[in-house]
Amino acid sequence: MRVLIMSDMEGVSGIVVWEQVNGGAAMFEEGRHLYTEEINAAVRGAKAAGATEIVVVDCHGAGQGWTFNSLIPDRIHPDCEWVAHHGWGRYDEMWEKGCDACLLIGMHARNGTPDGVLCHTISTVKYRNLWFNDALVGETGVNAALNGHYGVPVVLVTGDEAVCREAKTLLGDSLPTVAVKRGLSRYSARQLPPIRARERIEAAAKSALTGRIATQPYVPEKPTTIRIELDSVDKLADFKGRQGIEITGPLAVESRAKDWLTAWNQFWPYA
Ligand SMILES: [Zn+2]
Repeated sequence: MRVLIMSDMEGVSGIVVWEQVNGGAAMFEEGRHLYTEEINAAVRGAKAAGATEIVVVDCHGAGQGWTFNSLIPDRIHPDCEWVAHHGWGRYDEMWEKGCDACLLIGMHARNGTPDGVLCHTISTVKYRNLWFNDALVGETGVNAALNGHYGVPVVLVTGDEAVCREAKTLLGDSLPTVAVKRGLSRYSARQLPPIRARERIEAAAKSALTGRIATQPYVPEKPTTIRIELDSVDKLADFKGRQGIEITGPLAVESRAKDWLTAWNQFWPYA
């Protein structure tokens, strides 16, 4: 069994402020320690379920050399291999050669979620909202659609309560989730201690990957329209004159294509 783990940092227990997830900030070393250990819990669970190949892809844009490169190398569990500093969603080797399931660990809610700890959608300064056809989505939706394009189901989502709720709304109520904290605001939370959060993630990963995988891959209806609501009008310049992209309002841009990945790539060909 081949298992892909796509990880983000904002949904980890113990992490509640930007200073813990921005590369080079004083609290970043603490953040990446918490992050790495939570990913290790998912690796242990996958291994216990019988995974023979486990690849972790760090999807957290921490800035500078830490972008997609926030895990602490010599603390990473030896039963996985990990992808560092590769563009988000651009590591497709596991999808291309066939992968049984994906776990999304440490996720945060989409922008504008009142109880979403460190909530945002892709960028904190560029985008307000993102839709796939009529579905308002966050980064969980993006990762699920990337996997779904290749027929791979997301079988576990972990993060705060808000992202677990968001994931179930999009991917179905039966989706296993682990909430490691409940946001009291964007920058505060009531949390499980990291040690207990890791135990739950390990157990949930094992259970999600044991037996027949029932979760279906997420594939937005085709043809697919991806719509972005930008944060400010100056951001329109990024999209003017681009093939397949239509500017539909002062803050609205759409990409339409035969399927989700094509529409996505029209927006972010180099992401
Ligand atoms: Zn992140």
